[in-house]
Amino acid sequence: MTKGQFPTDQFQQLRTPFYYYDTELLRKTLQTINDEAGKHEGFVVHYAVKANANPQLLRIIRQAGLGADCVSGGEIEASIKAGFPASKIVFAGVGKSDWEINLGLDNDIFCFNVESIPELEVINDLATQKGKVARVAFRLNPNVGAHTHANITTGLAENKFGIAMRDMMSVIEEASQMEHVKVVGLHFHIGSQILDMGDFEALCNRVNELQSELERHRIIVEHINVGGGLGVDYQHPNRVPIPDFKAYFDTYAKKLRLRPGQTLHFELGRAVVAQCGSLLTRTLYIKKGAVKQFCIVDAGFTDLIRPALYQAYHKIENITSEEPAQTYDVVGPICESTDVFAKQIDLNGCRRGDLLAIRSAGAYGEIMASQYNCRSLPKGYTSDEI
Ligand SMILES: *Cc1c(COP(=O)(O)O)cnc(C)c1O
Repeated sequence: MTKGQFPTDQFQQLRTPFYYYDTELLRKTLQTINDEAGKHEGFVVHYAVKANANPQLLRIIRQAGLGADCVSGGEIEASIKAGFPASKIVFAGVGKSDWEINLGLDNDIFCFNVESIPELEVINDLATQKGKVARVAFRLNPNVGAHTHANITTGLAENKFGIAMRDMMSVIEEASQMEHVKVVGLHFHIGSQILDMGDFEALCNRVNELQSELERHRIIVEHINVGGGLGVDYQHPNRVPIPDFKAYFDTYAKKLRLRPGQTLHFELGRAVVAQCGSLLTRTLYIKKGAVKQFCIVDAGFTDLIRPALYQAYHKIENITSEEPAQTYDVVGPICESTDVFAKQIDLNGCRRGDLLAIRSAGAYGEIMASQYNCRSLPKGYTSDEI
């Protein structure tokens, strides 16, 4: 979508700030995922619900046939409500509560991605009480770095996630003694916003090593789950609206050696939904400071926290101005100095009432909104309803 393609007339009726989702782009993105993953036998794609659980988006993603990767009981409930079959729901996370595990067991979800032995024991106990057998995959920490922001790397030995590789055989051994769990897979996830295919290659090499070790013990698991992490082009949402899924899936097809009958699962979040979403906000005031001018808008980090939390870049456009460009710091109304969306960027001349679109905000945007300062949560609208 380029500037000018937003339905600005319809936007005028809506209270800002709000999220706007281009469902045509979402559908095209999902089609590309299905086309590219479909070229490789045994590839199964899940959507990481934590990126955005907007019910309308979930329904579109479910209609495209993706499974759901959940990290809480609430996400399992949202996925079931959106129509995802339980047989396509996986449940990950370092700290699953009993009620969340019970919810997964009651719904017979596809798999629990288990991150520790104490967790495995609890799952086995709860499954015993229900007379069920829980399907589990072990999340291993592959000690593979990713060239991304330190706060969103997850696959290093120092991170809290997963089980150490050297413990792989002993945890599988321990699980085999338990009657109410069945080990069906291995799970990995090295981080997010990864654009260097070399990082995924490093993960493939690690998985190959671990599979060889398992093979020496005559173990072949049903599936390998390599998590998500594919990044998007935050600089150029118009030029690169759809991430390079071909390079991503081809890397795995080329580098990861699947055993006969094995399936390879993916859990993509950001790459599915980031580019279809924008945060729309209205200019309140233009304030000329001593050394710079500020464009003060009605959205704050309560609506989109990524710039404050990760120093993330989002492209911003003034979609209602044709004035010559000027340089601004775009800031929100929250009483914190970190409430800044961008510093020293060029925007078409801003006046009070102008609408700005903060682009590539579909992932980790609306879902991370808070009510700090007693603010209301932003609404989300899709292009289907506007
Ligand atoms: C967050 C997460 C994902 C999705 O990551 P993206 O970078 O949004 O693709 C997948 N799997 C697990 C286990 C996660 O925690």
